[in-house]
Amino acid sequence: MQNVIEFEQTRRDINWKNLSIVIVFHLLTIPALFVFSWQNLAAMLIGNWIVGSLGVGLGYHRLLTHRSFKAPKWLEYTLTVFGAMAIQDDAPKWVATHRIHHKFVETDKDPHSTRPGFWWAHMEWILRGTAQDHDHATLQKYVPDLLKDKFHVLLAKYYYVPLVVSGVVLYAIGGWSMVLWGVFARVGFGWHSTWLVNSATHFFGKRRFTTKDDSTNNALVAILTFGEGWHNNHHAQPTSARHGLKWYEFDMNWLTIRVFEKLGWAKEIRRFEIKKVPTELKRAA
Ligand SMILES: [Zn+2]
Ligand SMILES: [Zn+2]
Repeated sequence: MQNVIEFEQTRRDINWKNLSIVIVFHLLTIPALFVFSWQNLAAMLIGNWIVGSLGVGLGYHRLLTHRSFKAPKWLEYTLTVFGAMAIQDDAPKWVATHRIHHKFVETDKDPHSTRPGFWWAHMEWILRGTAQDHDHATLQKYVPDLLKDKFHVLLAKYYYVPLVVSGVVLYAIGGWSMVLWGVFARVGFGWHSTWLVNSATHFFGKRRFTTKDDSTNNALVAILTFGEGWHNNHHAQPTSARHGLKWYEFDMNWLTIRVFEKLGWAKEIRRFEIKKVPTELKRAA
């Protein structure tokens, strides 16, 4: 308990920049509800697939953070541009945060540790304290691969530009109402989906593997995040490109990696399979 209190005190300062952004995006989701159309909903859902699945799940997480497969640079950069549109910070900061999460999971050094509670792990860690604002030494330690890459360094500086461009394109297609759906509601929905991986899949669900953390497999979060909700499988084998290990564990991001493989775009794919018990042993048992 003492630890939790100290942890809270060191991180209680409100991060006004993050708080303002989160409030604005949430508030602008309200008028979106009054200008519903099927086209606007489609803009949000397609955008959520491009950004949430291809950008965050495949790009930021499975490729950049864990290097679970090899991809040509053009594909890596494209996925990173999609990831930037999630407004979950630039790739080097996001990747550093996530690598730190895996290394120090459920301790004071875990940026979104579940120890202070569900809401801290979900979004409080972004609204109070330093969140993903790592200093250069931390970035140098955790993401030297990205800092060496000129494209990633440049995009990190202007990571909000792809979102602005997407807003202009959506405005040209469907006016302001499509911007409300395709930018603001889409970003808000994407935030909570990703945040549920940090919160819900460390609290609710089933545990297949006895990992040192509290990670769980949660079907609802997996649906919302295109497969990232098989989080206990992921913590058990973080470098595996495949998170849903059973046929019923739907993992859209993994299926997309398989498509990339067929197209010759994804190579050296790291794959974790549940070890099959040899038939002889099964018979003997
Ligand atoms: Zn986790
Ligand atoms: Zn991970």
